[in-house]
Amino acid sequence: MTAEPVIDTQPDPTAAAPTVRASLSPSRAADFKTCPLLYRFRSIDRLPERPTVEQVRGTLVHAVLERLFDLPAGARTPESAGDLVAPQWDRLVTEQPELATLFAEGDTAAVEGFLRSAAALLEGYFAVEDPRRLEPAEREALISAVVDDELLIRGYLDRLDVAPDGALRVVDYKTGGAPREAFEARALFQLKFYALVLWRTRGVVPRVLRLLYLKDAEVCDYSPDADELLRFERTVVALWQAIEQATARQDFRPRPSRLCDWCSHQALCPSFGGTPPPFPVAGPADPLTDARSRPAAPGADE
Ligand code: SF4
Repeated sequence: MTAEPVIDTQPDPTAAAPTVRASLSPSRAADFKTCPLLYRFRSIDRLPERPTVEQVRGTLVHAVLERLFDLPAGARTPESAGDLVAPQWDRLVTEQPELATLFAEGDTAAVEGFLRSAAALLEGYFAVEDPRRLEPAEREALISAVVDDELLIRGYLDRLDVAPDGALRVVDYKTGGAPREAFEARALFQLKFYALVLWRTRGVVPRVLRLLYLKDAEVCDYSPDADELLRFERTVVALWQAIEQATARQDFRPRPSRLCDWCSHQALCPSFGGTPPPFPVAGPADPLTDARSRPAAPGADE
């Protein structure tokens, strides 16, 4: 899709406002789908997760790609992207000083190697897209919709392209080095989530959901249809009902899978001989305050 103005059909402002009771992000929904106990650890216990180098590299590459489109189209070259890596890293460290602790103090060689690895992922990006020919309609945009009259679904999409005929393309950058097969279903679930939000708010089913695997320099396109999104909507609502039931019963069971290799909470997981902490007495935090920060779900989303 080439550079074109945004055609944005906004929701009907005269429609009665629904009474939103809860919210769900694609990351949290995918957590529950992957493993209910993982959902509990992240969303109810809110256990801290120390980001890995790989996740932080993903954050950095996303930041560079976002800034790249601030440049005039003709200036969006691999060299320009490479020039953004160090300044974006400095910005991230200033905003989140804990990121600097990923590397031993004074270990400039490790930091330089990290920045080079981020630049290598950007080469993968340029192998599959030419940003000089694109003018994204939205980047890092928070989108949301209410489904089933009371559930707010929302998330940040990496990029939205709009074609001259109004067709939408949702683009998600994948930067992780983990085997794709382990994460592809989760990634597609996330994209369908965005497609559902766009369909419900703009009345347009996205023509393409695109995963860009930067490490492999590969593109995975998927085209949903309205029937599929309708079924997906029922799935999301059913998922939320299951989360509510599990919360009421304080019953979140582990579901071991290959994704356990990327889980930060094995030590507390019964499937690995651990014991979860007592269920929080105050109950889960207000789901309407569930905001995403990148990486939204360390290890699993990238
Ligand atoms: S280790 Fe596996 S089964 Fe246990 S909480 Fe994590 S993802 Fe779930």
